[in-house]
Amino acid sequence: MRKKLRVGFFSLSCCEGCSLVFFDLEENMLKALDFIEIVDARLFDGNHPEERLDLAIIEGGIQNERDKDDLVAVRKRSDYLIGFGACATVAGVPGMRNALPQQMQKSLQKKAIKPIKEKVYPINAFVKVDYLLQGCPVFTHELLDVLVKLYHGTKPKLEEVPVCKECIERENPCLLFQRIPCLGPVSYGGCKALCPTERGQCIACRGITKDGNFEALRELFRKMGVSEQEIHNLFTYFTANPFEKKEGE
Ligand code: SF4
Ligand code: SF4
Ligand code: SF4
Repeated sequence: MRKKLRVGFFSLSCCEGCSLVFFDLEENMLKALDFIEIVDARLFDGNHPEERLDLAIIEGGIQNERDKDDLVAVRKRSDYLIGFGACATVAGVPGMRNALPQQMQKSLQKKAIKPIKEKVYPINAFVKVDYLLQGCPVFTHELLDVLVKLYHGTKPKLEEVPVCKECIERENPCLLFQRIPCLGPVSYGGCKALCPTERGQCIACRGITKDGNFEALRELFRKMGVSEQEIHNLFTYFTANPFEKKEGE
């Protein structure tokens, strides 16, 4: 019989919702415990920083020095590292402040009870990340799939398809024809087009695609009569603004 993977769960700046959905679902936990031993997790049996790990599962983004130090320390004692959920993979909910006007960001920094960084960062801004599991919250079956593959010594491969592909497969009527702005064309799926299936627009909680035609979609939204502010909000709910010029460009 193979040795179980020694796993730790860690929370940086976030709501801990991704860990909660995992620990709350008995069915998932029981399946996972066939492959893993949880040796360090605040929500399970407490923290045990002395334990060496095969796999660290990290939720939350980096918004202060402590987040960064904790992340670097965990990376040093783990063979593999997974970013777990939107906060870890794309800065997510805490990262919404990145899109505020600069003056507001500075005032937030001044008012914070504990020092915070100018921006909130995803974890791959500071350490090597082996796998990114997207979503707010994550889909726990995706984590189970990665755990089973690592246990069997195979490399997990995460599919990267846009939400529109899954939406079309579900034969949903397209929201764009109803003048509802939807980010499906430029968002990573894997969620089986959850929101458009329930008549809600996609707001890219699983991140925006590397090669999406953002400009064309923005133009379409404008033609649909969507205000500039709403377009800005849509593109920055979960991810960095794709229209913002990066340093050095
Ligand atoms: S991705 Fe969503 S559910 Fe998960 S920790 Fe962040 S805010 Fe919470
Ligand atoms: S509703 Fe959204 S996700 Fe679905 S096909 Fe239209 S644009 Fe794509
Ligand atoms: S449809 Fe978009 S916002 Fe909704 S779960 Fe999927 S990626 Fe996230």
